[in-house]
Amino acid sequence: QAKNAGRNTVRFFNPDMQAAIEARATLEAALRCAIECDELQLYYQPQVDRYGRLVGAEALLRWLPPDGEPVSPVRFIPLAEETGLIIPIGYWVLEQACAQLRLWQEDPRMRGLTLSVNVSARQFHQPDLVSQVRETVAISGIDATRLKLELTESVVLDRVEQVIARMRNLKMLGLGFSLDDFGTGYSSLSYLKRLPLDQVKIDQAFVRDIVRDHNDAAIVRAVLAMSQSLGLNVVAEGVETVEQRDFLLQHGCELFQGYLFGKPVPIDALSLPQVPLTTDGGSWAIASCQ
Ligand code: C2E
Ligand code: MG
Ligand code: MG
Ligand code: MG
Repeated sequence: QAKNAGRNTVRFFNPDMQAAIEARATLEAALRCAIECDELQLYYQPQVDRYGRLVGAEALLRWLPPDGEPVSPVRFIPLAEETGLIIPIGYWVLEQACAQLRLWQEDPRMRGLTLSVNVSARQFHQPDLVSQVRETVAISGIDATRLKLELTESVVLDRVEQVIARMRNLKMLGLGFSLDDFGTGYSSLSYLKRLPLDQVKIDQAFVRDIVRDHNDAAIVRAVLAMSQSLGLNVVAEGVETVEQRDFLLQHGCELFQGYLFGKPVPIDALSLPQVPLTTDGGSWAIASCQ
């Protein structure tokens, strides 16, 4: 076919590929516009402790076009990474998150909460990342110990020494690091020891079948045990059922995030810290979680 198109013409793409490329270009143009037109918003998903008390939240990006369905970050973050749009988007997210932390710090009921922000690989490797974060923290006037940066294993794939040095510089500002989607990437367990991490998040892929799948159960138990001995706290992601929560509780998990406790919501819909109904340290004490 390509040959028949003429001696000097080479068709690299079939019509399907052409359509995919055009769809991508359309999405990219729309995303560029979204940044300028204020169509991005942060949602907040609660993180709770063993007693079901709100201890923090993860900031999750949403793209809300005025005339369409919300676009999932799963769809546009990879594109934003490829095109470099993740850089302005990432700083916008950080600024919003710091502004929110600042508001919480003025509210005695919210003062103790932490806020976790996802940082993509490309953003993390920006030469001016440390100075940008330092500036944002300074301008917002937050207590940086309440801020956590979530990195995925893809950030640490190469240039490990450089990543460690950068993490140390950022930690000097007071903030903490969480390793997101743990177990789904390529990194070896030795990273857990080498990186200056504070927290590990067990990916929902392992939590999903934890009650039925012996392999997943074994992996989760091992991650919990290992993290404890390394002094890292662990967040279980994607907790949807009481059975999953109970398994995790039994094996020493301290922090939980998932639809069982709350979906990502706009800030006004995030509920205040819950007061435990009993002080019984051994059992789950929140009626709303039953
Ligand atoms: P992530 O950081 O691992 O975030 C957790 C994802 O799991 C979120 O998807 C959340 O809505 C979803 N989730 C939480 N609990 C449950 C549950 O119980 N069941 C199920 N089925 N899902 C649950 P979301 O919001 O669609 O975000 C997807 C990914 O997009 C995030 O995964 C993160 O990698 C990326 N992302 C989101 N916001 C940002 C951002 O501001 N910057 C960057 N760089 N990436 C972001
Ligand atoms: Mg995350
Ligand atoms: Mg995750
Ligand atoms: Mg994920």
